[in-house]
Amino acid sequence: MKILVANLGSTSLKWRLFDFSDRQERMLHKGGFERVADYPKAIEDCLAQLRDAGHIASEKDLAAVGFKTVMARGLNGCVRLDEKAVQAMEAYNSIAPAHNPPYISGIRLFAQRMPKTPLVGLFETAFYRWAPEAAMRYAVPRAWHEAGVRRWGFHGASHKFIAERSAELLGREDVAQRARRLYVDGGTSPVRKPDLRIISCHLGGSSSISGILNGVAIGNSLGLSPQSGLPHNNRVGDLDAFALPFLMRTTGLTLEEAERLMCKESGLKGLSGGHNDIRDIQTQAALGNRDAKLALDVFVHQTRHWIGAYFLQLNGADAIVFTAGIGENRSEVREAICANLDHLGIVLDVEKNRSARAQESAISTPDSPVKLMVIPTNEELVVAREVKRFLEKHCIANHKS
Ligand code: ADP
Repeated sequence: MKILVANLGSTSLKWRLFDFSDRQERMLHKGGFERVADYPKAIEDCLAQLRDAGHIASEKDLAAVGFKTVMARGLNGCVRLDEKAVQAMEAYNSIAPAHNPPYISGIRLFAQRMPKTPLVGLFETAFYRWAPEAAMRYAVPRAWHEAGVRRWGFHGASHKFIAERSAELLGREDVAQRARRLYVDGGTSPVRKPDLRIISCHLGGSSSISGILNGVAIGNSLGLSPQSGLPHNNRVGDLDAFALPFLMRTTGLTLEEAERLMCKESGLKGLSGGHNDIRDIQTQAALGNRDAKLALDVFVHQTRHWIGAYFLQLNGADAIVFTAGIGENRSEVREAICANLDHLGIVLDVEKNRSARAQESAISTPDSPVKLMVIPTNEELVVAREVKRFLEKHCIANHKS
């Protein structure tokens, strides 16, 4: 069974092709285009690459195309992306303005190009379905909550991958197996007694921290929207709700302009005075740019804040895991995050940390009670696995095979 997982940005298309034949899962192909001007052509070129590499004869060989969809009104988990589902995503465009619109237009283009191929989305919110209600509620009137104003949590595919992979690496295959059954069958009752406690730090263009107990999320730093929690590359992170009415009343800021500033000019970019890549910010800070240094300090402070929150809720941690662009690649940022935590049993091995490259590595000292690890994430694999289970559960056969 071949499943294509497509990662859609407003000007990018990335993909991975997985094959689940013979009881094995293999990634057959990965590729992508940046600065895409003509999206239908990019889809065509993606299919051409898969054909040229000999993986498919035509799109009919794809059992499904999977998408790491972000959020939709009234939908969660793994879902067939028909027009009704796409409209449910559209209803949340203003909550996820950087994420939902490119997915919606991309999914519609895939549907036009391959109308007979099932398109299936795994929503990023799915991993938090079992999080305790107290962790997901805002203290707002009930009517607001019922209208959708609640903490959702995102980066679900990435944190789920880390939940399972870290369990395997810690010798807890039992927890990994149990966690793998979650999502589609939904009926598994999560075990809540303190057992395997993981804090997963997805630090990248957008960043979030999840607390994970026995493979099940207990919460995530992202709340209602993927603009909340830690500061992101150019999105704001947590902000007191009263900041907006204050600015709108005192400066005449319009709602549209406020939304644009919070989504495109804030976060690390806003703090550093224009740089949204951590590598540039680090270079600037080393040159003595105080705003760049402050951006790094805020990022580290916020990361520690959320690690601390889950460390307490989990009654400690067996491991803290770093993943995604910053988490996998920036040893200096990891070092700053892990500084002076020895009284909590968190001791970084500075040399191991500095020599860790973007691959699975243990970066704590051998006697550190809390293990520190770098694990490259694999969100597409999580999506592909769930799409496969969705197809099997709903007996959706490839229209060819
Ligand atoms: P996204 O959240 O968009 O998926 P990534 O996980 O790819 O983001 O992370 C991208 C970010 O990671 C960049 O903005 C940059 O700040 C940071 N980064 C640091 N070092 C590297 C590196 N060597 N390769 C890629 N990204 C890096």
